[in-house]
Amino acid sequence: MQKILVVEDEVKVANAVKQGLEENGFEVDVAYDGRMGKSLAASNSYDLVILDLNLPHFNGYELCEVIRAKNNRVPVIMLTALGGVDDKMQAFELGADDYLVKPFDFRELLARIRVFLKRAGAEPTQSTQFKIAIADLEIDREKKEVTRAGKKIALTAKEYQLLEFLALHKGKVISKLTIAEKVWDIDFDTGTNVIEVYMNFLRKKIDKDFDSKLLHTKTGMGYYLSEEP
Ligand code: CA
Repeated sequence: MQKILVVEDEVKVANAVKQGLEENGFEVDVAYDGRMGKSLAASNSYDLVILDLNLPHFNGYELCEVIRAKNNRVPVIMLTALGGVDDKMQAFELGADDYLVKPFDFRELLARIRVFLKRAGAEPTQSTQFKIAIADLEIDREKKEVTRAGKKIALTAKEYQLLEFLALHKGKVISKLTIAEKVWDIDFDTGTNVIEVYMNFLRKKIDKDFDSKLLHTKTGMGYYLSEEP
């Protein structure tokens, strides 16, 4: 059974999410404040974490950093009443994989959880190519590890999925629409710049410290990964 940690100080919301998830076959731990969330996260292993942003003791950002430091791969979905671009950016920068603004529909939360957990479980069957090398970039699809020039690069689950998708289509320009569908499993929402945001994160981690750039933009068309500009 897949195990989910819910950290949320609004007891009603927390309990409703817990109940909904249990009805859908998940095992759920709830923490009603940041301190409790931190201690549960430190002593258990979870398949996914749902984090409220405003919490007593530690806020969701701080908690997200703690969780990331322990398990770089666990998907983290942030919940918050704030929906500003700055808040989203900060959530993504601190390693959240997705972001839901309250009030949200439980079915939407469930759909996003399923996307993350499905991907986490059923990846290597898609292709038998377990290692991808592009110039000095290496992606180990079994270990989900990425190195460049031999140096390990820490990516969040979503960053990894995006990079792997581009790498599997090396040299091909991939539209944002395709990325939204294949990597995020969503129909393209013109109101979100989440793909640009993630491309920026990847560039910082993959290209920033190297002279030869591997991630490229074809203006108005999409993105591609290639050793040639
Ligand atoms: Ca709260």
